[in-house]
Amino acid sequence: MTVRTRIAPSPTGMLHLGTARTALFSWAYARHHGGQFVLRIEDTDLERSTEEAVQAILDSMKWLDLDYDEGPIRQTERFPRYREAIERLLAEGKAYRCYATVEELDEMRQQQMARNEKPRYDGRWRPENARGRTPPPGVNPVIRFRNPDDGEVAWNDLVKGPISIANAELDDLVIARGADWVPTYNFAVVVDDIDMRITHVLRGDDHVNNTPRQINIYKALGAELPKFGHLPMILGPDGQKLSKRHGAVSVMQYEEDGFLPEALFNYLARLGWSHGDDEKFTRAQFVEWFDLDHVNRAPAQYNLDKLLWLNSEYMKEADDARLARLVAPRIESRGGLIAGPALERVVALLKERAKTLNELADEALLFYRPATPSDALIAQHLTGKSIDALRAFAERAGAIAWERTALSALLKQLVAEFALKMPQVAVPLRVAVTGRAQTPSIDAVLELIGRDAVLERLDKALARVR
Ligand code: GLU
Repeated sequence: MTVRTRIAPSPTGMLHLGTARTALFSWAYARHHGGQFVLRIEDTDLERSTEEAVQAILDSMKWLDLDYDEGPIRQTERFPRYREAIERLLAEGKAYRCYATVEELDEMRQQQMARNEKPRYDGRWRPENARGRTPPPGVNPVIRFRNPDDGEVAWNDLVKGPISIANAELDDLVIARGADWVPTYNFAVVVDDIDMRITHVLRGDDHVNNTPRQINIYKALGAELPKFGHLPMILGPDGQKLSKRHGAVSVMQYEEDGFLPEALFNYLARLGWSHGDDEKFTRAQFVEWFDLDHVNRAPAQYNLDKLLWLNSEYMKEADDARLARLVAPRIESRGGLIAGPALERVVALLKERAKTLNELADEALLFYRPATPSDALIAQHLTGKSIDALRAFAERAGAIAWERTALSALLKQLVAEFALKMPQVAVPLRVAVTGRAQTPSIDAVLELIGRDAVLERLDKALARVR
C-alpha cells in the first residue's frame, strides 16, 4: 500500500499556523513512508472563499517548501462528481430531500431545548416519515444523509487511540444545499478522500466530531476507510486556542516579520511532536524520524521565544549571500539606500546579533542611511579629551591601511596617548560616524563604512563641538 496523505485548507483567510503544522506532519508522514502528499483546496464555501486566500495557501506551502505530488485540486472543479455521488445515495435510499424551512427547524430546536433534549434533526423528511406529504411549494430542499439509527461508529485514532460513538447520537446531516447541490464539508471531504485514495487523514482535533459522520458516509458509498489521526491543538501562552490575540498566526506574516522558513519549519515540527530532546534538526532528519507514535496527545503550547531562538540559530548558519538577498528589500523599505559597503559583508558582521531579518535590517541601516548624530548624543559623548583623540584620529587615519587591525592599533595608540579608556574613544567615534552610541566592534564598522565616508562624517561631527 502506498501511503497517501493530504492537506485540505479552506481558502477563507490566511494560512493558519495550525494548518501549516498539520501540513508539515502530513507531508512528513508521506515522505517518511515513500508515499504521496496531495494539496486540496476546500473552496466549496463560495461566499467566504477568495482567490487571495488560495494564493496565500500556495505561497505558504512554497515558502515552507512543502512540495506536493498532486494538486492544488479545487473542490469547485469537482461539483459534477459530488452530484453523481449524491444521486447514487438518493437512488439507494441512503440520502433524501428535506423540505424543512429554516423557521421550522428553528422551532424544532426550541422545543427540544425546552424539553431539555439535545437539539437534533428529527428525521421528519425521512421517506418513511414523509409518506403521503407533498413537498411545500417554493422550498428548495437540502439533501440529508440518512445516518444509521443503530450501532456504533468506532475507529482507532492514530493519535488519540480508540474512539467510538453511538449512531443514536448522530442526526441526519445536510450533505448538499441549494439548487446546485453545493456539497457541505463533511460530504465533499469524504468523496475527495476516496477519489484521491487518501490512506491517512491527519487533521486538527477540532474535526474529531466530524469523523464518525464521515465514516458513515464512507460506508454508505461502499468505500474502504482510511486511518484517521487527530492532532492536538496549538494553544497560546494563556492556554486558549492560538489566535490573533497571541500574535501572528498566518504563515506569511512570519515571512514578513523576518523569519527564515527553515526556522518556522523546525519550530512547527516540534509543536506537538518530539524526537528525544532534539530541538534543532534538518528537514531530512524530520522526515527520517517522523512517526505518529511521538505526536503528543496533549495540546502544544506556542512559544515565540523558542521560535526566535531557532531563527537566530538558523540565521547564524545561513549563507551570507542569501541573507543579503533577503534583507536588502527590508533595508530599502526602512529608507536605506544600498550603496557603499557590500551587503554580504555587513550581514556577515551583524547576523550573530540579530534574531530576525527585520532586526538585521534595522542594524544594517547603520551602513546605508546617512547618520546624523543628535545634538544630545554629541553633547553627551564628544567632550574633553575625547574630542582631542577624535581630532588626532582624523589626522592620522589618512595614513594607515584601512582595515580592522590597523584601525584597532590606531585606536589603542590614541587611548594610551590621551590617557583614556577605550570606550572614551570608541563611543564618541561611533556617535560621530554612525549617529549611534552602540554598534558592533568599532574597527569592523569603520572598515566597512570606508575611509572617505568615515572622515567626512567625523569632520562634520567635530565641527559641531565648540
Ligand atoms: N477544510 C478543512 C479545514 O481546513 C479540512 C479538514 C480536513 O482535513 O478534513 O479545516
